[in-house]
Amino acid sequence: MCYCKDCQAGARALGADFALNDRGGTEIFQTVPSHIDITQGQDHLACLRLSPNGLMRWYAACCDTPMFNTLATPKLVFSGVATANLRGDLNDLGPVIAVNKGECATPGAEIKNYGYLRAGWNIMKRNLAAKLRGDCKTPFFDDTGGPVVTPRVLSLEERKAATLDHLTG
Ligand SMILES: [Zn+2]
Repeated sequence: MCYCKDCQAGARALGADFALNDRGGTEIFQTVPSHIDITQGQDHLACLRLSPNGLMRWYAACCDTPMFNTLATPKLVFSGVATANLRGDLNDLGPVIAVNKGECATPGAEIKNYGYLRAGWNIMKRNLAAKLRGDCKTPFFDDTGGPVVTPRVLSLEERKAATLDHLTG
């Protein structure tokens, strides 16, 4: 569960406040890209970056729904899946193992951070295991390691607007 300003701005830049919980948190299920198959609507896959070096925030351009996060390269075998729009029993995903940047949540009771190292360690473990298996298939990057679509990078103004939204409610 991430309350960082970038995750909030990423959702708000798409007008996708529904992807945030009532305190501005984004719930992410971490996995490897080979576990993600895009079976329909490939042509709607789009990518947003808050800055030229920002995380790759993949979304469905038809409805501006945030879907996945990756780094800018497939070298780290990692992807996060935004759970807000998943169907089915989310309990199957297991409990939240980490809370990040609770201090950046929208005003309210204190939210305690925990599990950051564990989540990071899990990412490294998954990355290494996938590489040992040769399991580096990804729907996000082509054979040259470039993204399958050209990311849209927010201008500084757009980024500010998406971030300020949060401050003014
Ligand atoms: Zn975040």
